[in-house]
Amino acid sequence: MSATHINSYYAATANDDTRYPALRGTITADVCIVGGGFSGIATALSLAERGYKVVVLEAQRVGWGASGRNGGQMIAGISGEHRVEKQLGEAGRKLLSDIRYLGNDIIEDRVSRHQIRCDLKRGWMEVAARPRHMEAMRAYVEERRAAGDGDGLELVEPGDMRGVIGSELYHGAMVDRRSGHLHPLNLCLGEARAAAALGVEIFEESPVTEVVGGSKPYAVTANGRVDAASIVLAGIMDPSFQTGPLHGLLFPTGSYIVATEPLPESIVSKINPQDLAVADSNVVLDYFRLSADKRLLFGGRCNYSNRDPRDIRATLRPRMVEVFPQLADVTLDYAWGGKIDIVLTRVPAIGRREPNVYYMQGYCGHGVNTTHIAGQIVAEAISGTMEKLDLFEKIRHIRLPVGQFLGNQLLALGMLYYRLKDLV
Ligand SMILES: Cc1cc2nc3c(=O)[nH]c(=O)nc-3n(C[C@H](O)[C@H](O)[C@H](O)COP(=O)(O)OP(=O)(O)OC[C@H]3O[C@@H](n4cnc5c(N)ncnc54)[C@H](O)[C@@H]3O)c2cc1C
Repeated sequence: MSATHINSYYAATANDDTRYPALRGTITADVCIVGGGFSGIATALSLAERGYKVVVLEAQRVGWGASGRNGGQMIAGISGEHRVEKQLGEAGRKLLSDIRYLGNDIIEDRVSRHQIRCDLKRGWMEVAARPRHMEAMRAYVEERRAAGDGDGLELVEPGDMRGVIGSELYHGAMVDRRSGHLHPLNLCLGEARAAAALGVEIFEESPVTEVVGGSKPYAVTANGRVDAASIVLAGIMDPSFQTGPLHGLLFPTGSYIVATEPLPESIVSKINPQDLAVADSNVVLDYFRLSADKRLLFGGRCNYSNRDPRDIRATLRPRMVEVFPQLADVTLDYAWGGKIDIVLTRVPAIGRREPNVYYMQGYCGHGVNTTHIAGQIVAEAISGTMEKLDLFEKIRHIRLPVGQFLGNQLLALGMLYYRLKDLV
């Protein structure tokens, strides 16, 4: 049976049904990319724009993983910024300032250049779940403005929240007008189409079973093989690929979303009058936004056992109604989940597993923009500019060499700890 996207609002509204063939036989390329999510497709585009011959091997379909299922929030910066600063000092601060809006800029440029229809809109907001979180936001905005990098940022004081959200739950907010939201599956499919038009060869239903690096790298699938000068492991991979610096690094965990029926304008204009993407300031956070057809897409983590919940709707509805009591009776048309790629330092893992085998993963639920940053950094490294890759490789990551099952149980416990802390 041929692979399909999971049942979600995104799959139901996908505007491109291109099928790419499965790999058969041996072919050669400059770069072979394993994974057809944002990491893989964004890297392929960055390389193709530089004139490289690129092959992408995707186990299922383009955008089948987190890239086609996520909250669609395009948020500036990367996860774990304070650790980057702490570990790399001034070089880290410069890196963060150089890349903060890079992912958003790449996406906006590609959407406009390749005319990708993905409902891209500017405007993202973090809402303060606790009064002390608002204090932290004030300090953050001040710091960014002092560094000359704060245009686009606005603080919303507690008394002014009605102008941005129809919920009584929050204690102020910070809006970033240079971040925003989009239909992630349609972005991924549109970028794949643009890559293919630039000559990238994409193969679907072609799971890679073996990757060999060194002086003659190659990747193997059930019915084919790609010989390439470089190989890129793009995204969450099978644990058997997590060797060398990747051992004990990545612990995928579930996140889930429900989509309501389309809401009437009378509700939409109250709950989200400026059509912003919203995330709360908790460590284990709720995130939500409106779709183009005015459904509320509401996401969060459902449980702390690291097992998929039996009923996503039943688990997420009470959280959604706590935020927006006016939605108590709406129908939830879709519910789905996917894996968030957690690394314990929270800093995305970008580097080389061995000579000529690159990796990018561990965006910690902040991957829409960061995958595009990582794609550019790896493309630069392959074409000889190592500066940013070198800095990411210097990050000292926390590893748990205990196997993925036990690691995931420990992670689930850690999440529960943070959830309880958020509630206190
Ligand atoms: C429910 C949910 C909500 C999220 N919300 C947001 C959000 O609002 N904003 C944000 O910034 N981030 C969000 N994220 C995170 C973001 O979606 C991810 O960080 C990002 O999509 C990662 O992209 P990727 O390409 O690295 O991984 P993926 O999209 O998972 O792609 C990896 C691909 O590799 C393929 N693959 C795996 N193994 C092999 C193999 N052996 N051979 C060939 N192919 C293989 C898979 O089939 C998959 O298609 C969310 C994630 C989830 C799950």
